Amino acid sequence: MSSEIFNKSIAELAALLEAKAITSVELTRAVIARTQAVEEKVKAFNSYDPADALAQAAASDARRADGQARGPLDGIPIGIKDVIAVTGQPLTASSKMLANFVSPYDATVTQKLRQAGAVIWGRLNLDEFAMGSSTENSAFHTTRNPYDLERVPGGSSGGSAAALAAGEAIATLGSDTGGSIRQPAALCNVVGLKPTYGLVSRFGLIAFASSLDQIGPFTRTVEDAAIALQAIAGHDERDSTSFKVEIPDYRAALKTKKGPWRLGIPKEYFGEGLDPEVAAAVQKAVDYYRSLGCEIKPVSLPHTEYGVGVYYIIATAECSSNLARYDGIRYGHRSTEAKDVVDLYFKSRAEGFGPEVKRRIILGTYVLSSGYYDAYYLRAQKVRTLIRQDFLNAYKEVDAIITPTTPTPAFKRGAKADPLAMYLCDVYTIGVNLAGLPGISIPCGFSSGGLPIGMQLIGQPFQEADLLAIAHAYDSKHDWSRKTPNL
Ligand code: GLN
Repeated sequence: MSSEIFNKSIAELAALLEAKAITSVELTRAVIARTQAVEEKVKAFNSYDPADALAQAAASDARRADGQARGPLDGIPIGIKDVIAVTGQPLTASSKMLANFVSPYDATVTQKLRQAGAVIWGRLNLDEFAMGSSTENSAFHTTRNPYDLERVPGGSSGGSAAALAAGEAIATLGSDTGGSIRQPAALCNVVGLKPTYGLVSRFGLIAFASSLDQIGPFTRTVEDAAIALQAIAGHDERDSTSFKVEIPDYRAALKTKKGPWRLGIPKEYFGEGLDPEVAAAVQKAVDYYRSLGCEIKPVSLPHTEYGVGVYYIIATAECSSNLARYDGIRYGHRSTEAKDVVDLYFKSRAEGFGPEVKRRIILGTYVLSSGYYDAYYLRAQKVRTLIRQDFLNAYKEVDAIITPTTPTPAFKRGAKADPLAMYLCDVYTIGVNLAGLPGISIPCGFSSGGLPIGMQLIGQPFQEADLLAIAHAYDSKHDWSRKTPNL
């Protein structure tokens, strides 16, 4: 792994901190300096507060000196997607609607990271309200792919992926509604984990589509993903959809769960539209698993082709309802031009939301409207059940499923002006959200043009320990993610 301190993994840094070879203040200073050096090119952040981060780092060092260190995350700087609440810091969703909003409270995940001793560092850019696959829909600026600044980092958590790839954080958090953690992770050569729906609390996450949204970590290794998930998983009474499940020791499971596993290859994920270099890289990874003694089985997920259509009905329906709260009255942008209260609603929303958000609100309102509800929304919910059933059927025969994370490596900025072309970036990630399953993207190679390629492993509900162990079996023996960008 790179000798630069800001490119090291959580596990490596935790060992250095524990050995007192470095302090959290030194590490945090290095991350701040790196951010100040490359941020002009990468543009991953919406805001950051060095003084606040250094104060947290000093507190971590003081704890450690006192013999009160809290574990592997104590003193590690972690960036947060700008849809997750951090007390006293801006919370914008990369929208004009919330451009001046400061969060009065911590999200549960933020609180849990603090309890683990992490240094909460920087708000990361995204597609406005997490709607998009390129971070070009941010109302503020476009984040660049650190491996090629002319290309997108993916989205919607593009800032979270790019910042980590560029050495501007040691890990980051994102949210994934249809692929927003896994897709940018694949495009930026980092690990991205979307946990099972209900494993991680959504309290303090700005809602996009509540039946699909899940928070998860971006890290440099699968081991780091296990460490981060350990800190943020678990039941929360403030999120009624969070499950009461036993949380195992994920990091220990990487060693105790050894396989060999039965791995399914769904034919629907290797068809038309898949870039041959991506297909070849994933195939090579599959061959590696075979060499470990894993049984590789073809499986079928026959309703895959309806995934994107179903997603864009359910996600827009839920977003039209969730975003109704931005009315210019309670918080967020308020128009100064309005004649009366109805005009105030119209103008505040017209001025505050960007074009993609408006498109989705209109679409979502339509599919929920009387006369269309049964034809669109209700039918989409039924097909969603079939999609979940496809996966559960496959899991009668296999332990996990392997697919490409994205059809192509990172595309050029501006290349997908047509919304439908953008929506199709998520063909391989959306099914996982619709079915509520855990999915992880891990680096598995580079294109001939030097762009990162990711592979997706899909696990069974709440079986993150197995999923991480399977991913670790590959990741710990390959060092793709140690190849850092030239900035
Ligand atoms: N790209 C998908 C969308 O635009 C997924 C976004 C997400 O996961 N937040 O809705």
